[in-house]
Amino acid sequence: MPLVDMKDMLNHAYHHGYAVGAFELINLEMLCAVMDAAERARAPVILSVGEHHFDDFDVQLLMPAIEAAAARAQVPVAIHFDHGKSIDSATDGIRLGCNSIMVDASHLNFSENTRITKNAVAMAHACGISVEGELGYVPQAEEKQCKASDELAYTSLAEAKAYVERTGVDCLAVSIGTVHGRMKGKPRLDYQRLKQINEALKMPLVIHGGSGLSDSQYHRLISNGVAKINCFTGISELAARKLRESTRGTIGISYSQIQNMSKAAITSDVEKYLRLWGAAGRAAEVLSQCHIWQPIEQLLIYKPFAEQGLHLSTVYEVQAVLSRIPGVREVHVSEIMDNDSHYQYSWIIKFCHPEAVKACQTHPDFQSLKRKLFSPLEDNTLNLIQQRLAPRSPELTEISLKVAF
Ligand SMILES: [Zn+2]
Repeated sequence: MPLVDMKDMLNHAYHHGYAVGAFELINLEMLCAVMDAAERARAPVILSVGEHHFDDFDVQLLMPAIEAAAARAQVPVAIHFDHGKSIDSATDGIRLGCNSIMVDASHLNFSENTRITKNAVAMAHACGISVEGELGYVPQAEEKQCKASDELAYTSLAEAKAYVERTGVDCLAVSIGTVHGRMKGKPRLDYQRLKQINEALKMPLVIHGGSGLSDSQYHRLISNGVAKINCFTGISELAARKLRESTRGTIGISYSQIQNMSKAAITSDVEKYLRLWGAAGRAAEVLSQCHIWQPIEQLLIYKPFAEQGLHLSTVYEVQAVLSRIPGVREVHVSEIMDNDSHYQYSWIIKFCHPEAVKACQTHPDFQSLKRKLFSPLEDNTLNLIQQRLAPRSPELTEISLKVAF
């Protein structure tokens, strides 16, 4: 399963002088087109879903398809939750299958942005998830057109150093002159600022609003530390143009034909970018040098305080509480079919990553469940977990069911 850690993927790109494309997806055709392009170019790729587009598609329906595409891919893939509006929504993104997040507080002042991002990093890193921060504000194209350039919040070098140090983000999106959407006229980029930030931080930098730059602009960005380029507007406009062209004056053209034309156009455009940004042909090295993403399932078994056992409603309450803990993706209840057993029920918990198991065990909601419902644990719980379900098991023990999918 070539889902890989995005931090590893970007570090590889950063140290080898190329950039990975992060293509924002709003439907199945875009997903298929981007994956076809990545496979053709043998390139690592980031599949991105942005909360600012959630009114345009049903993320709960699209995410299983994105995960399935990553699972069957031959090239390394990371799944990124972009422009999250809150830590809660980023947690939902992780639950849906994203293995990297961004909580966008770039429109707020430095200290608020730092505070929110730091909390996002604490939540995500505890679950093994990497985090992109954004400092400085990348405006929408319409905003840029009505403001003078000095009103725009470009990333400051001093703030960037403090922000990275205080938050612990894994990569940093910078504002150096690009915009979200299509800019009128040729974008003027502040390479000097980018160079200084790169020399100071020595970490993967990210460009938002990566559509519509020239080949030489892309090359200069990459040679100054940009390792992730976000792309949406370009492929979205291209798909719309193909749709208009394909229907102009044509009688009897089917929806699937239109769809296929748009998809083919996106594939060739994305492939062009993957080659231009130097990611083509890198798939094998990335796969061999990056951590493969490995979700984990565990079985939770308990012995309740109450002699008569737990009421079924409490069993489902436990399921609901566990389901809300960051890093937990799914929880299933199972009845234990053994009359002599002290154990009535078990919960099968699917975590996004092995790190998330520890985060769950120490989470206040989990701790409070244990205190309320279960017999006290002995101090050596972790050892007991490692010993797996030993014959004289503790009142509450977890065993690893399977490590890889
Ligand atoms: Zn963006």
